[in-house]
Amino acid sequence: MKTDPSAQNFSSQIEAVGYCRTPYKQKFGIPRQPGLVNIKGLIELAPQVNNLDAVRGIEQYSHLWLLFCFHENLEQGWKNTVRPPRLGGNEKLGVFATRSTFRPNGIGQSVVKLHKVIQKNGKVCLEISGMDLLDGTPIIDIKPYIPFSDSIESATGGIAQDAPQLIDVQFSSLAKTQIDAHSSKLNNSDLIQLITDVLAQDPRPAYKKAKADPKLYQVALYDIDIFWTVTEQQINVIEIKPTSVGQN
Ligand code: SAH
Repeated sequence: MKTDPSAQNFSSQIEAVGYCRTPYKQKFGIPRQPGLVNIKGLIELAPQVNNLDAVRGIEQYSHLWLLFCFHENLEQGWKNTVRPPRLGGNEKLGVFATRSTFRPNGIGQSVVKLHKVIQKNGKVCLEISGMDLLDGTPIIDIKPYIPFSDSIESATGGIAQDAPQLIDVQFSSLAKTQIDAHSSKLNNSDLIQLITDVLAQDPRPAYKKAKADPKLYQVALYDIDIFWTVTEQQINVIEIKPTSVGQN
């Protein structure tokens, strides 16, 4: 039977092809796009594709597109217009004119760097870096990034033409000592650099940035909570504590 081209009854049940394990244990503090922080993560393939055959040849690509679900935001629904943080939260744009995380199908897409394929606890995994994904994010598809077609030199970036401006990050001597002690447990000698790169994005909402801000902020990374304040366009890391957010 011929399909009626005017039929508008498409529906589909999508199953995750994997789950992303990342050091970002809560949404606050995650960079607003991929590639801004060089942080490592893992995609664990789901049972129906947990087979080396499914990723055969993937290591010849340096980068991958991840399609994923903004699973933590699905319940909150979506609206036709959103107020992008870049515009200070004042101006409205259509949802399809933004990379809002509140979308009709709740689907996100990110380019990440691929390091290698490994097998861990019986699961085929992809080692990646640069992702902007919450720990536990369901991945709904994985595709190679193809430079000749995916990179468009003459493209214009609308309200997001340039990467966000970075803010200076300083550490108290207490925080430095605590982070040093923690680095060896985590086997991560670059923890100070990583925290610097994450906080330099200034995770605060745009409206907070214009005036004095006395708040004590907290960002959960790996198994630690990082506490910080802002004075005069500078982030001050005060101390770190074992995390109170989710799992390690
Ligand atoms: N590159 C993607 C996502 C951009 S928004 C795209 O353009 O589609 C990035 C933000 O998504 C992060 O700062 C974080 O706050 C949010 N995020 C990441 N994973 C999420 C998840 N699983 N559920 C809800 N929000 C998530």
